[in-house]
Amino acid sequence: MKVFFFSARSYDRESFEAVARQENLTFTYHLASLSSQNASISEGYEAICIFVNDTCDAEVLRILHRSGVKGILLRCAGFNNVDLKVAKELGMFVARVPGISTGIMQIDLAYSPEAVAEHTIALIMTLNRQIHRAFNRVRENNFSLAGLLGFTLHGKTVGIFGTGKIGICTATILKGFGCNLLGYDVVKNPEFETSLGKYTSTLKELLSQSDIVTLHAPLLDSTRYIINSETLATMKPGAMLVNTSRGALVHHQAIIEALKKRHLGGLAIDVYEAEEGLFFQNHEGEILDDEVIGRLMTFHNVLITGHQGFFTRESLYEIANVTLENLTCLEEGKKCPNALC
Ligand code: NAD
Repeated sequence: MKVFFFSARSYDRESFEAVARQENLTFTYHLASLSSQNASISEGYEAICIFVNDTCDAEVLRILHRSGVKGILLRCAGFNNVDLKVAKELGMFVARVPGISTGIMQIDLAYSPEAVAEHTIALIMTLNRQIHRAFNRVRENNFSLAGLLGFTLHGKTVGIFGTGKIGICTATILKGFGCNLLGYDVVKNPEFETSLGKYTSTLKELLSQSDIVTLHAPLLDSTRYIINSETLATMKPGAMLVNTSRGALVHHQAIIEALKKRHLGGLAIDVYEAEEGLFFQNHEGEILDDEVIGRLMTFHNVLITGHQGFFTRESLYEIANVTLENLTCLEEGKKCPNALC
């Protein structure tokens, strides 16, 4: 089987080469992200392997289909960038790497949501205790504490929007900190109710009672811009918002307004709506055209990382492994547990 990788970085190559066991596999790695301009480059390959910011809309899928590509292997959990309806019409195989918590289900070699949960906690702790600013200060021999005041996490209320795998892992860690947990989800998770926290019946209720709100729902029509000027207004004054899920859950212009009004107390994001073409690359020495992220970066109470929640050695290895299992299903025409169509 020949697989063409888009948006492939050195660490992708390393993890995939390390787990590639079958000798009949040919992997070609391409740095650029998938778009209608370059989709036909994969002609002659049975499958392509893509990541979060590769565009796999109807136009791209048709080009891939005409080029003989039979399968789309997502080396991530989210699949909002693939038009599944069209993929299905074209009879194409699409599979992803779903999060399977090794703590909850004893399944090895699966993508770990703990990695994303731990990064979420790192963002909360860093922004609250201003570790990023303290680090820079101390390196300049400045040991002043002025402006570094944080709050004690113990006893604070954290609202978890989306209590799936990553939401549960995040809640479990926060429970250890002594936080009170509120959850909001369209599907209630018994594990959350039994041992972690309680569900609110509306999102407004969760937002109005939480000192920290962390987003862990996928990007769907129903969740796009779920955090907007209206919902932001219902948040507690001074509360912190964290998003490690998908950028477009949040309306970033509305966030800027809420920060300017001093209503939103802090923002920590690992994802950004317009991250395609920006994240995963070094733009040092360039002028950024994106006015919104540019403005966000001017706030002392905004912390941004470039979609690195998944980025642990264990996670990369697991992603490569599950992707290869998905490829085997395509090759052998077997039923695939991770297939989306
Ligand atoms: P999951 O499917 O286990 O959980 C998602 C939860 O969101 C489910 O419980 C679902 O019922 C809930 N949900 C769906 N629609 C909702 C709505 N309208 N309102 C409230 N809740 C709703 O997914 P997961 O593995 O926990 O991953 C969550 C998201 O994290 C992914 O969709 C992906 O976008 C993101 N992610 C980010 C990274 C990263 O590196 N930053 C890595 C992996 C995943």
